[in-house]
Amino acid sequence: MELLKRLPKVDRLLEAPEIRSYLTEAPQVLIVEAIRETLEQLRTDIRNGKAGEADLAFETIVRSAAIQCAEAAARSLRRAVNGVGIVLHTGMGRAPLAESAQAALADAIVHYNTLQADRQTGGRGNRYIHVESLLCRLTGAEATLVVNNNAAATMLILNTLGEGQEVIVSRGELVEIGGAFRIPDVMRRSGARLCEVGATNRTHLKDYREAITAETGILLKVHQSNYRIIGFSKDVSIAELSVLAGEHGIYAVDDLGSGALIDLSRWGLPKEPMVQDSIAAGADAVCFSGDKLIGGPQCGIIVGKKEVIDKMKKNPLTRALRCGKLTFSALEATLRLFLDEKQLLVENPCIRMLTEQVDEIKKRCQRLRRRLLALESDRLQVDVIADRSEVGSGALAAVQLDTFVIAITVKGLSPDALARKLRMGDPIVFGRIKDERFLLDGRTLREDEFNLIRSALGRVLLEMH
Ligand SMILES: *Cc1c(COP(=O)(O)O)cnc(C)c1O
Repeated sequence: MELLKRLPKVDRLLEAPEIRSYLTEAPQVLIVEAIRETLEQLRTDIRNGKAGEADLAFETIVRSAAIQCAEAAARSLRRAVNGVGIVLHTGMGRAPLAESAQAALADAIVHYNTLQADRQTGGRGNRYIHVESLLCRLTGAEATLVVNNNAAATMLILNTLGEGQEVIVSRGELVEIGGAFRIPDVMRRSGARLCEVGATNRTHLKDYREAITAETGILLKVHQSNYRIIGFSKDVSIAELSVLAGEHGIYAVDDLGSGALIDLSRWGLPKEPMVQDSIAAGADAVCFSGDKLIGGPQCGIIVGKKEVIDKMKKNPLTRALRCGKLTFSALEATLRLFLDEKQLLVENPCIRMLTEQVDEIKKRCQRLRRRLLALESDRLQVDVIADRSEVGSGALAAVQLDTFVIAITVKGLSPDALARKLRMGDPIVFGRIKDERFLLDGRTLREDEFNLIRSALGRVLLEMH
């Protein structure tokens, strides 16, 4: 136990220049804690006979404490490079925002604003007006409401229009979205009762008609976002459901999930149901995510008939589910881009990534390859190869897009080990593994990230010497 006594004091480590520099980057408590953890780990290693003379050199201890300090100094939620190729990656924050949305956000973060201040009267106004006319213009709806996410939107609609009543849904549409969002569970929580109709693969209009009773409040259609029923299948359109609901004085509601505002099939993607079509078909309320195919901030958008939306605005749940100024500022800027399609295709990052031509992606991969080869390591092999990437986030389920990737091999490291080092390093880089190779997908990479990738890979190679 002689060795234990030789461990340096926390104060002495704090004075080492490599560690002291972190004090300007992070609160002292965090740095002290990181040093204590390093020393504690060493104590454990000594007791277990895993640490010897060499591990106790002051410089060695400083080096491992500095690594812990770097981790402690960095924020937990931070920038990462998406080389996975999934454009709407929920784990990586879904949609990166357009520049105009960034500017609006920066303004809203720093200054006071007109969130709910009525400029005409000087009194308190309404926070929904900033996006209401835009959303009505884009979708043809009479009124809109924005809440925290689409799960909240679904909950609010069911609670407002269906509490204590029956909601009829096709068995083919009882979906589970990632993160334990299941239509039957949401229904129960909302106070509405689920009434399932049809079969998993086929549901007919008469199934809904025969299920309607005096207790029925809503006919609900849910978009099969993240799966497809193919083959002998049939579902009932929102147009047919709207007519049927109208005949019985009940509501027709469409949960679209992704909610496309433009038709991406013009770029070779499959046709997603569009919000404006559901409104034109007569739906009373339609809901969709702000951060899926819209490419905006996280939120749930409800559009529909004024009388129906007004009911929801009066529901006390709306207050609990409401969004803040950051969401409204980013959403307004995002939606404005949809008024000009040319601008939208260039400036909305998600739509740009989804519609980009594959030879552009290939060229980008080739430029990145050259940049990485400039690291001049004989351990490193970089190839540009054709592959397929996913859209993600339940949008355009089961759709794979042609893409190009760069495949990186580092001699002496397995693909898993390389992936882990790049994930755990700084800058943080995520990729995918296929056929024993680590891949970075050019579809979701940006030119201004090349330096980050190079420095992340450079660090990995350096550590191997
Ligand atoms: C994604 C999705 C949701 C959940 O939306 P969030 O914005 O993630 O809360 C709900 N319903 C459908 C059909 C979806 O695709």
